[in-house]
Amino acid sequence: MGKSEGSSSGAISSSKKKNKGPLCHCKRRTSMAKAWTNDNRGRRFWLCNPHGFVAWIDLEEQNAWQKQSLLEARDVMDRLREEIKVLKQSPWTTSQQATIEDSNALLLEEGDRLAEEKKKLEIALITSAEKEKLLRQFLVLSWGGFIVITIIIVFAMLKK
Ligand SMILES: [Zn+2]
Repeated sequence: MGKSEGSSSGAISSSKKKNKGPLCHCKRRTSMAKAWTNDNRGRRFWLCNPHGFVAWIDLEEQNAWQKQSLLEARDVMDRLREEIKVLKQSPWTTSQQATIEDSNALLLEEGDRLAEEKKKLEIALITSAEKEKLLRQFLVLSWGGFIVITIIIVFAMLKK
């Protein structure tokens, strides 16, 4: 576990490890910065603005506690990942599928209801058309009746 270096900054650190001063090889003053790579999370190093990483401030030995806590955190993450996997595999997914099926059924019901509504509307349209036809027939009949009645009346009056 001793020699695991950071993925990206580790490569630079091996070439510049002995340069432990606040001055970079370009004679610029370095500033303190924190690494956020997976292996060196929170580890401080000297940073030269144009050149980047110069040297670690936190030596690996002094940093052991931090690595330990990182490993523990990783264990917790692994455990959580496992739990999520288990949750995804078992009844949770089936219940989720059930809800999906339920919502599908609901959608189908909704579709049926809409189809029924449409049918009802069509029937209403047909009946209203029929009513209109009936009304027209009634009007024709009543006009005809009116004319027939007037003719009868006129004949009756002419007979007198
Ligand atoms: Zn520099």
